[in-house]
Amino acid sequence: MDYQSFFKGKLNDLREEGNYRVFADLERQNGNFPHANHHDGSAVRDVTVWCSNDYLGMGQNQVVLDAMREALDRCGAGSGGTRNISGTNHYHVLLERELADLHGTESALLFTSGYVSNMAALSTLAASLPGCVVVSDELNHASMIEGIRHSRADKVIFKHNDVADLEAKLKAIGPDRPKLVAFESVYSMDGDIAPIAEICAVAEKYGAMTYIDEVHAVGMYGQRGGGVSEQDGVASRLTVIEGTLAKAFGVMGGYICGSTALCDFVRSFASAFIFTTALPPAVAAGALASIRHLKRSSAERLRQKERVSVVRRKLDEAGIPHYDNPSHIVPVIVGDPVKCKEITDQLMDEYRIYVQPINYPTVPKGTERLRITPGPLHTDDDIDHLVGALSSIWKKRGLVRAA
Ligand code: PLP
Repeated sequence: MDYQSFFKGKLNDLREEGNYRVFADLERQNGNFPHANHHDGSAVRDVTVWCSNDYLGMGQNQVVLDAMREALDRCGAGSGGTRNISGTNHYHVLLERELADLHGTESALLFTSGYVSNMAALSTLAASLPGCVVVSDELNHASMIEGIRHSRADKVIFKHNDVADLEAKLKAIGPDRPKLVAFESVYSMDGDIAPIAEICAVAEKYGAMTYIDEVHAVGMYGQRGGGVSEQDGVASRLTVIEGTLAKAFGVMGGYICGSTALCDFVRSFASAFIFTTALPPAVAAGALASIRHLKRSSAERLRQKERVSVVRRKLDEAGIPHYDNPSHIVPVIVGDPVKCKEITDQLMDEYRIYVQPINYPTVPKGTERLRITPGPLHTDDDIDHLVGALSSIWKKRGLVRAA
């Protein structure tokens, strides 16, 4: 077989569909978030980032940076091993305690990313419980789908956020088999939020465990940043709360929180936890400082909410169509992969605004979009510039305005 031609052919298919991904070469400017230098060939230009998942700017918060510097000076660069073989640093232990406290659980377990935490925890739990059926929301993230697939357990999909359909699916499974309901709180592409209390009620009725991904909610929702489950007062009803340290907490890593027995079980049996080097101590220290800060400070959360509402209002005034949802994610729907890429290229080239086009397979074909994430550090001028740019592009291209 001509392997290289095979690879090139597949890549050409992606290009023709408009789904080939081009990464923006960015250099974040510390202390000047959300600004970054964009390296484009030989040119370097300052751009404003409007699609970052460093939702609260904690990746450049002084408290976090100081903690990381101190840990780097105390412990050096890497952790030096897997958690089992010399790699458990005291910062990991402190961070796991902090996470358990954040979510009000007995225990927590750290992973190298949110992706790995979903993959490892879901695959281990579903594979180990004899005859387990995973009941999974149809819009769950790729990392959850991979974890479930890897477990080889039976999987049943329920309609997105549809509690009646979930109940019908749980009922049909029968009382004797272990069941695990897997879902998210804030869905990252549409920005809608799951009815967590209702899902828990149905799961309790049918004796199912619940696994929630709060990746796009931790740090931002709830009085202490414990996510939507904290905000809704339902954290104690969930069997597993999974989250990331890479988005609102601004650093890197993933985790699960739950009972001591469950976390110890995953710690003891999950390959993707056991056989990989632990996070660098400075990363754990930064995440620890970030969580502690956001437990006490609501300033970042409040400012983010206010910025989100201003962006939505100005988009409405300009007639730029966007999904109305209760979260911080503002999806501006374009509905065509080629147009979506052209619009984002134009934003970058003409307006020095960086928004990554979101195309298939991240979202269904026909719903291609700009996913805008306003943060506490976007200024009024930034917002006016963004909305003005979109408005001009909409006009030039004759795109449909919202009523
Ligand atoms: N879960 C969801 C819903 C996500 O959107 C993502 C990443 O964007 C992840 C998990 C993975 O988290 P991480 O980026 O920490 O690997």
